[in-house]
Amino acid sequence: MIGKPKSQTKSSKMAQKKKAKQAKSKTNVKKTKISSSSNSNAKKYVYDFGKKTDGDAKQKELLGGKGANLAEMAKIGLPVPPGFTISTDVCTYFYSHKKSYPKILDDQIRTSVALMEKQLGKKLGDLKNPLLLSVRSGARDSMPGMMDTILNLGLNDETVEALAASSGNERFAWDCYRRFIQMYGDVVMGVQKLPSEDHDPFEAIIEDFKKEIFPKDKGEVDDSRISSSQMKELVGRFKKLVKKRSGEDFPTCPWKQLEGSVGAVFSSWMNDRAIVYRRKYGIPAEWGTAVNVQAMVFGNTGKKSGSGVAFTRDPASGQKVLYGEFLTDAQGEDVVAGVRTPHPVAKMKRVLPKPFKELELVQKKLEKHFKDMQDFEFTIENEKLYMLQTRNGKRTGLAALRIAAEMVKERLIDWKTAITRVPAEQLDQVLAPVFDAAAQKAASRLCKGLPAGPGAASGRICLNADRAVEAAKKGSVLLVRQETSPEDLRGMIAAEGILTARGGVSSHAALVARQMGKVCVCGAAELDVDYQARTVKVDGKTFKEGEYMSINGTTGEIFAGELKTAPSEIIQVLVEKKLSPKGSKDFQFFSQLMQWCEKATKMSVRTNADSPSQVANAIAFGASGIGLCRTEHMFFEGNRIDAMRQMILAEDEPARRKALKKLLPYQRKDFQGIFKTLEGRPATIRLLDPPLHEFLPHDNNSQRDLAKKLGVTLSSIKKRVEDLHEFNPMLGHRGCRLGISHSEITEMQTQAILEAAIIVQKSGIEVNPEIMVPLVGFPKELELQVEIIHETAKKVFEAKGEKVKYLVGTMIEIPRAALVADEIAKTAQFFSFGTNDLTQTTMGMSRDDSGSFLPNYTELDIIEANPFASVDQSGVGQLMEIAVKKGKSSRRGIKLGICGEHGGDPQSVVFCHNIGLNYVSCSPFRVPTARLAAAQAAVS
Ligand code: PEP
Ligand code: MG
Repeated sequence: MIGKPKSQTKSSKMAQKKKAKQAKSKTNVKKTKISSSSNSNAKKYVYDFGKKTDGDAKQKELLGGKGANLAEMAKIGLPVPPGFTISTDVCTYFYSHKKSYPKILDDQIRTSVALMEKQLGKKLGDLKNPLLLSVRSGARDSMPGMMDTILNLGLNDETVEALAASSGNERFAWDCYRRFIQMYGDVVMGVQKLPSEDHDPFEAIIEDFKKEIFPKDKGEVDDSRISSSQMKELVGRFKKLVKKRSGEDFPTCPWKQLEGSVGAVFSSWMNDRAIVYRRKYGIPAEWGTAVNVQAMVFGNTGKKSGSGVAFTRDPASGQKVLYGEFLTDAQGEDVVAGVRTPHPVAKMKRVLPKPFKELELVQKKLEKHFKDMQDFEFTIENEKLYMLQTRNGKRTGLAALRIAAEMVKERLIDWKTAITRVPAEQLDQVLAPVFDAAAQKAASRLCKGLPAGPGAASGRICLNADRAVEAAKKGSVLLVRQETSPEDLRGMIAAEGILTARGGVSSHAALVARQMGKVCVCGAAELDVDYQARTVKVDGKTFKEGEYMSINGTTGEIFAGELKTAPSEIIQVLVEKKLSPKGSKDFQFFSQLMQWCEKATKMSVRTNADSPSQVANAIAFGASGIGLCRTEHMFFEGNRIDAMRQMILAEDEPARRKALKKLLPYQRKDFQGIFKTLEGRPATIRLLDPPLHEFLPHDNNSQRDLAKKLGVTLSSIKKRVEDLHEFNPMLGHRGCRLGISHSEITEMQTQAILEAAIIVQKSGIEVNPEIMVPLVGFPKELELQVEIIHETAKKVFEAKGEKVKYLVGTMIEIPRAALVADEIAKTAQFFSFGTNDLTQTTMGMSRDDSGSFLPNYTELDIIEANPFASVDQSGVGQLMEIAVKKGKSSRRGIKLGICGEHGGDPQSVVFCHNIGLNYVSCSPFRVPTARLAAAQAAVS
């Protein structure tokens, strides 16, 4: 089989060849046993599960998540159909050996198939009791729907008859066969939707066929109404489609089918959607996928059978209920593919009470064993329950908070584990907006679907993923589809929200939407989505692509038009203070987690803020101070900019001092407000940083207005703008270079900071100013600036008759500063890494213009992530480590922080923890995320 492909057997000679094959299979089994005992050192590629189980849950790297958990479930006595896992090592081998396999693999697979045959009393390709297989992918981290699956493998024109006879159910056998052709045709033989088609071609055949046989029925016709002879007809049509599109006959040899399927699953590791998914979730391509081959059990044998997916808790809200969906007389793919809308799992209690009871026991056993919320797949074959998969369930941010808190209460996990259970990136979701209550009440409600991803989203509707990507460049978009499919991934990433007419809350795409934190409403059956006309009809209205709709992913409601959104409950409690903490359960779970984070963290989290209101927000989120106050932002308010411009246009120092004197009271007042709000928390205030031309107008009209306002000539303004022009302004006359050229700027700002501090201190509030000098590269630069700061401080203290304690430090934001950090630390009492400029100057990439080529760099794997969002650990990170080491070598207790945008990025926060920073600083709304990431770094 694998590694030595055999030619395809003609269907008419199948029986004869099959016997030969079976004989050969027996020989192979024997041979493998001999070879494995004589060659006991041969590498193991295949791991059995079932009565004999080789692996366990700890072996996710080798067996993938699915394989490892199947083994674990088998070990703890859950009803798992037997099978085997082909390890991820084979995937690595496959890609490093031109898509071929290790020689020994074929024998190991045959041995494992033989073991399954023995356990089940069935045989692959047998004409009496054929063994049918499923072949599924299984990466280390689950990638729902991104790779391929094949079910009912082993069927052909002869074995289908055997299955019909052995099951006594002809319709079922032919239903399995048509499903197999559909999946294998799609996945292995490439019979897929053409760019010109909106529908899967097999599904299109089914739809047309249903119209033919039930001409009078309008709307959805249940598949169960298709008779066995009609199924046969469908099989014929499917085979014709395969032949027409692929040019090949459908393969009849089960071993050949197995070979094709295993190859297809390994190949799907590199398909477009898997690559996009890996990129989004930072899954390395080197991990590879495992392949799981398992004996089929059948949920489609009639009314006493069914398939479902369920969660041990509600993945949207986190509530402790058995939550999920199932379909009677159906295979698992029907539930997750979103083609048929399934029933809530609770309904099973009525129609299949015995297996439902078993399911409830399984729910308890799974959580007790895995100690996390599980997302599992099951099948019921003639009232017998089988477990096909379990994994830690993906959940919304809100659900993650609730589950973590409640599992601690239930003593399933401890508080430190709870911290690791909420992905830091997901906290953004918890703070995401909801519809403004009044706006929602007043809106025209069109219909209701299933709430699949919480939050509120409004946008222009787009009926196709590619068009959604384009439209999203211009504004918010809702992706509206008949059913969601993993191919829509790019469109889903681009869209604000996702809306489907069919499919349930556990369809693959809905899972992905939730994980991405997208608002999602599924299965809104009243929607008539017309891909051809590009319209959505609902409630007697027709919406054209590009018109606005709004969806509430928490309730499932769909509205016409664009609705105003309102902040999340947590924001309402913390920021707007409109809701009391007692009035919001979400807030209580959030607050509990933040308390645990506080207990665990080694780093504190400060904020980048320039106004008292920003500071107040950040403090509400738990910020411990200001890590960066960009003073230049204060110069743009009201008419202060005029004084600033006067200062810049001044011809000499006295004129500059005169203009600066006007700015002093503004700055002092701002700092007073900030110190008051901080109530003793530290404030790192940076001296003027940007190049001066940024403060001057560049267009003619504005320059003329300014000339009039300041009573100077237009030409003098033009000349100054010209003088200040620089080819590389970010590398020019900015940062401490300004203070060195014009010490009066440093003097004025120091005076404003310290006078404000004295005023606030006098009012009984503690102050902790930290004056920060930007863009230092030479130790002498800092020495000169510090001299001015201390001299000014002395004057201020003498004049006011009062002192305040203060620190002086610098930013480390150019490589030279990192490399001579030991020298700089002799003067600097603290370092704050300005990783925006440090990235820009280390990489020689403009932080403002690199957006034009960076996406391509990510696609080509030149960089793993945008280095301006997440610290480039091996480059920029190395400079940071050098600076930390050198800084500490000359000043042991030097305070270390980061204030670049990276301070709010979870991965960068973990990195900062690892290199020993004391704090990170980020924008106010990212403070909770940074706190969580910092605590996670501390407990892991
Ligand atoms: C930095 O460079 O990282 C920084 C915080 O300063 P700015 O972004 O203001 O240049
Ligand atoms: Mg900077």
